[in-house]
Amino acid sequence: MHPAPIVPPARIGFIGLGKMGLPMARNLSRAGYRIAAHDLNRDALDRTCKGTGAEAPGSLKAIGESCEAVIAMLPDGKAVREVVLGSGGDCLLAGLARESVLIDMSSSSPVGTRELGARLAERGVAMLDAPVSGGVRKAADATLSIMVGGDASVIARCRSLLEAMGKQIFLTGPLGSGHAMKALNNYVSAAGLAAAAEAVLAGQRFGLEAKNVVDILNASTGMNNSTLNKFHQFILSRAFNSGFSLDLMVKDLKTAVEIAHATGSPAPFAEACLEAWSEAQASLGPGADHTAVVRYWEKLAGTELGK
Ligand code: NAD
Repeated sequence: MHPAPIVPPARIGFIGLGKMGLPMARNLSRAGYRIAAHDLNRDALDRTCKGTGAEAPGSLKAIGESCEAVIAMLPDGKAVREVVLGSGGDCLLAGLARESVLIDMSSSSPVGTRELGARLAERGVAMLDAPVSGGVRKAADATLSIMVGGDASVIARCRSLLEAMGKQIFLTGPLGSGHAMKALNNYVSAAGLAAAAEAVLAGQRFGLEAKNVVDILNASTGMNNSTLNKFHQFILSRAFNSGFSLDLMVKDLKTAVEIAHATGSPAPFAEACLEAWSEAQASLGPGADHTAVVRYWEKLAGTELGK
């Protein structure tokens, strides 16, 4: 007999309560789930407990023991492996029961995801990769796109949980396929932003008005998600506060290029894109928002957009 679907008021472990994790945990709590939270950052944990009524059991093992499903929303797959396997210290695997599920909603590298899934399977613990797209805004209003890899019966068990955080749930295939899809999506997104940045900059230097260039792209075939949802809002406004960091975007680009190389697929654009974003990361330093990448092109051109 298959285990029952995980529905409210089930207790869900939530590890990683940063810009995305906090609003996602809040939506789970609104849907009636009880949350057991953990984050290395004490402030993030306190904010979550206040904002969602979550408990903080204080150890990963205790979260594993008390939850049928544990969600990870961490920077990368390395952090997920640390939390699950530990390095001799406290870890989820010490507590997770057979038939419980680890759901990695971070944007992790698919190779590491498959290895971790195999380690968990040896202990009878299931794993899904369920990365998301839509950013902080869609995390807040529970309209994320979620791309889920893993066993169909495990996805069915976890469906109501995922539906509490997202609007569209895509099944991508076996474990790791969601993470591969997410990295490839972010490559296309990063390439679109870079192409638009180059075009708006060249247009302005030619004598066009930057905001006019963006408006015309948005009414024309050059439109993409960045021209629609990032240029006026975060770039021309100089706010640079989309909530998705440049460091995380470079990580995703590296994963996308690794996937292309591992599959023998030609990827000259992806390689050039990774190189440009990595140069921007080195030039801007850690912690920049990904929309601030245009500052790197501005620096090369000696021109500020919108001026
Ligand atoms: P974030 O840096 O805001 O949050 C990550 C959280 O994880 C932090 O609170 C940090 O303290 C915690 N953390 C790190 N290592 C830890 C560990 N070993 N144990 C416990 N806690 C740990 O990042 P974010 O923007 O929320 O992104 C999370 C994931 O979602 C990333 O994989 C990112 O690529 C992906 N993502 C982000 C966005 C976005 O718009 N921000 C959109 C889609 C996907």
